[in-house]
Amino acid sequence: MEGRCIWCNKVGDNLRQATVGTRHPLLGGPARTDLVVHEEHADAFERFSERVGRSGRLFLAAVGVCLLAMVGLEIALVAGARTVGTVGIGMAVVALGIVLSALPFSTPQTVALLGARTAARLARLAGALLIGLGLFVVLLVL
Ligand SMILES: [Zn+2]
Repeated sequence: MEGRCIWCNKVGDNLRQATVGTRHPLLGGPARTDLVVHEEHADAFERFSERVGRSGRLFLAAVGVCLLAMVGLEIALVAGARTVGTVGIGMAVVALGIVLSALPFSTPQTVALLGARTAARLARLAGALLIGLGLFVVLLVL
């Protein structure tokens, strides 16, 4: 079978249909049935996609909470609670970074563009950067 491997994003001819469950909001959803994967990457992708299936909702909820917290804290900041607002936003950014590092999921578009492996690496890198940025923001007020 020919195509582009969903895991490493390389074109090849020793690909096979990837076995993906039906509930993968972060891998393209049930409509996406054209996933193919290298024989040698099938296990890695399957583990990753199982993890997305198990933790996908948790991930989306955690990201949502972090973003909501940031919005709330920005309002506090505008309202004059400078220290609380700034430290809080820093902590929320750190929390978001921890979520991204622990569950390195990205969008289906990113997976389609770069492959799941690279997308996960980028998400981890972004998580690490967010943790650093958040700590920096907290340190600014201390
Ligand atoms: Zn591959």
